[in-house]
Amino acid sequence: MEELKPCPFCGRSHGLLITSIHHRIDDITLEQWSVFCDASGCKVGCGASCGYHKTKEEAIEAWNRRAKTQWVPCSERLPEDSSPVLITHRGGVSYGWYNGRYFERGANTNHRKLQTVIAWMPLPEPYLERKIDEGD
Ligand SMILES: [Zn+2]
Repeated sequence: MEELKPCPFCGRSHGLLITSIHHRIDDITLEQWSVFCDASGCKVGCGASCGYHKTKEEAIEAWNRRAKTQWVPCSERLPEDSSPVLITHRGGVSYGWYNGRYFERGANTNHRKLQTVIAWMPLPEPYLERKIDEGD
């Protein structure tokens, strides 16, 4: 199995959680897999997730993917999975995901529908902190 890359948001590689849940969209319940940067209990992760996927392997792949970041008009193409994306809508820019029917704002469990979505793009590459050489 593919190894998990560090969290694209907080850079942590410890405390990443691969989990399956029963995800409910409207009246349909699906078992889906996700990778979380675990923020529960005493964990110090940032709570980021890769969205929900059909298999564990797909979830890991999505977590590890570092997609090119540019706006994709919805009229051209919609996201292929429920990975987190940036969304341009009439109200500005939001963070959310595509559930296969419409865009939702925020985390995967909020179910707040975003109206008039114009475009979306994958999240940008994380900022990689570099240690500055001493004596420079
Ligand atoms: Zn994180």
